[in-house]
Parts: sequence; C-alpha cells; structure tokens
Amino acid sequence: MSKLDRPRRDVLMMGAGALAGFIMTDLARPSGALAQRLQPTPQCGDETSTTLSQTEGPFFKPKSPLRANLRSALKGTPVELTGFVLTRSCQPIAGALVDLWHADANGEYDNRGFRGRGHQFTDTQGRYRFLTIRPARYTGRTAHYHVQVQAPNGPVLTTQLYFPGDPVNRRDGLYRRELEMTFSGANARFDFVLDIT
Ligand code: FE
Repeated sequence: MSKLDRPRRDVLMMGAGALAGFIMTDLARPSGALAQRLQPTPQCGDETSTTLSQTEGPFFKPKSPLRANLRSALKGTPVELTGFVLTRSCQPIAGALVDLWHADANGEYDNRGFRGRGHQFTDTQGRYRFLTIRPARYTGRTAHYHVQVQAPNGPVLTTQLYFPGDPVNRRDGLYRRELEMTFSGANARFDFVLDIT
C-alpha cells in the first residue's frame, strides 16, 4: 500500500474547524512559549537544500495518535522538539503533517500500542512542537527520532533526526550530521525543508 493510501492521510482531509480546534486546544497555551523560542521567520540561506530522506526502518505504525505530548506515556530525559516545515524557498508550510516515532528510554519501540508515537500539524506559521523524551540507543543504532513530514497533498518525506555529541553517532552507518538537531538545554530544534518550491 502506498503512503498516499494510508488511512491517516484522511486526517489531512479533516474539516478545517476540527483541525483549528486541535491547534487551539493542544497548542494554544504552549505556543506562546514556542513563539518566544522560535524566531518569527526562519533563517534560510540563499540556497536551501531539502532535508535528506532516510529509511523508515521496521517500526513505523500508521494511525498514530494526534498529539503533541508523548511524555505522558514515557519516562526519560525530557526533550521539547520544535521547528518549522518549509519550502525550498523558505516559506513556512501551514497544516503540514509531522509524524514522530521513537524508542523509549530502554531502546524499545511500542509495536502493540502507540507509546512514543504521535503526529500533529504545523500551525499557521509552519511550526510544530512535540514534548517527548530522549530515546535510548538500541543494538546497532545511535539515539534517533523517526519522522515523516508531509505538506497538504504533498509527497511524504521520511527521515531520522540525531543527537549532537552522541559518541555512537560515528559508528552508526545511517547517522548524518545534517540531520542533527540543535539543542539548547532540553529544547531541540530541527527545520524540515520539503522539495516544494
Ligand atoms: Fe529506530
């Protein structure tokens, strides 16, 4: 089944009212803090390269919950992951799907339920935000998040995000420096650039 056929794509077709309702209820309060941390417009160079895609891996599950807070079901070192979803010309993309899944603090994925899994949509300024934890490494892999990002009616970008300074990064064949998040304390930042003009 192609990604475009996945049921969760239907969520994108959800009424704008419902979507706005989610953003208001789930993001309204924290977005004040988010707005303070994220500059009003992203910084982009003259030549913005699209975000590198990476393998989905074996643990993706469709139909993750619509939620920004994954911490309620996870114990571990808190991470607040925020950023923009952008076009190649550095325009923020509103309503883009950002689906996050990752291992827990023991390096295990929840393949029965949805612990460590959630998706949300970028706000009107193209921003997303997750409250989650730092995943543990597991055999053969440095610490990483898995992400799928999709602009409304656009292709799916599947990739992984890495933690700067993890000593196992250089021994992980999938690790790429350009997919490192930038950290300030517990706040992680990564901007996705989609292959859209
Ligand atoms: Fe993984």
